[in-house]
Amino acid sequence: MEKYIPYGHQWIDDEDINEVVKVLRGDWITQGGKIEEFEKAVVDYCGAKYGVAVCSGTAGLQAAYLAAGINSGDEVIATPLTFAATANTVVCCGAKPVFADIDENTLNIDPEEIRKKITDRTKAIVSVDFAGHPCEYEEILEIAKQNNLLVIEDACHALGGEYKGKRIGSFADMTILSFHPVKAITTGEGGMVLTNNKELYEKLKRIRHHGIIKRPEKGNWYYEIESPGLNLRITDFQCALGLSQLKKLDKFISRRREIAEMYNNAFQNIKEIIIPKEKDYVKSAWHIYPIQVQGNDRRKVFEHLQEQGIGVQVHYMPVHLHPFYRKRFGYKEGDFPKAEKYYQRAISLPLFPKMSNQDVEYVIQSVEKII
Ligand SMILES: *Cc1c(COP(=O)(O)O)cnc(C)c1O
Repeated sequence: MEKYIPYGHQWIDDEDINEVVKVLRGDWITQGGKIEEFEKAVVDYCGAKYGVAVCSGTAGLQAAYLAAGINSGDEVIATPLTFAATANTVVCCGAKPVFADIDENTLNIDPEEIRKKITDRTKAIVSVDFAGHPCEYEEILEIAKQNNLLVIEDACHALGGEYKGKRIGSFADMTILSFHPVKAITTGEGGMVLTNNKELYEKLKRIRHHGIIKRPEKGNWYYEIESPGLNLRITDFQCALGLSQLKKLDKFISRRREIAEMYNNAFQNIKEIIIPKEKDYVKSAWHIYPIQVQGNDRRKVFEHLQEQGIGVQVHYMPVHLHPFYRKRFGYKEGDFPKAEKYYQRAISLPLFPKMSNQDVEYVIQSVEKII
């Protein structure tokens, strides 16, 4: 059988390609005008004030923690159910990720668990909108306010999602997006940090570009290093792709929602399958469709689906169970029982806008057969 359906895939058309080629034929392939144009377009879409485009979502997280002043000895409260980057970048700042268990319904960090983890070293909460389902921002922001913490939203799954009628991008102090090919829109590699705070915005821009500030009053060549920074820049041709992709974002999200609906309808009455839920006050961006299989051997189901040419994945092994996190911070099995229980049973099914109804049906039938 030659059929293969990946779990996620970009959708790039001739219009996208033409926009990239136009930039490549011009003078500025990096540090030109397309970057600001893309930042402005994403900021307008998300209802935020400022955007800083960077070379990946991971770079965005790193820049956000640096801008927040996260440093050695600090603690950042995070969900264990996320991609490694959310926590790794905390460790790269010299700080400690302190995990707080998930709510098993939304699979997002549980605000009550956050409260229990706050110490006098806590500097920030990083929330991850798992599978594209926004977290409980009303509660999280309240907790942050009471305890004088920053909220950093890892929205790498959630571009195009909504919470209580508002698009994600302006709830947290900083919101991080990823434009990796499996995400809502792509620039190849890429990311962005959104903020409403001018001071954080200025810091983010400096961190992206070596910590440099220009001082033309001392000469047009003159600059100073204000703080250590990196090169986290994205290119103009990537931003041209991003601008073209952004025009299709609403269409992409609608299609993702359609496919999720097909899966929901097919699986909601199968007692061996727990489907991902969507609260009625959010609109999920449906980055992934993770089912939980109960009363079945997950590995067997997973491998069977793979053999059928279905690119299933597991999102994610909880971060605290990785060898580095066990060794460095002493985390162990049993620390976060809800995230671990979810992990034992999770399988993400293919979900991307270009997927045909026929492919969705094929996945549904394959899952029904093995269950
Ligand atoms: C994809 C992703 C990232 C990292 O984004 P990259 O662009 O791949 O660096 C971070 N956090 C989450 C939750 C992600 O899904």
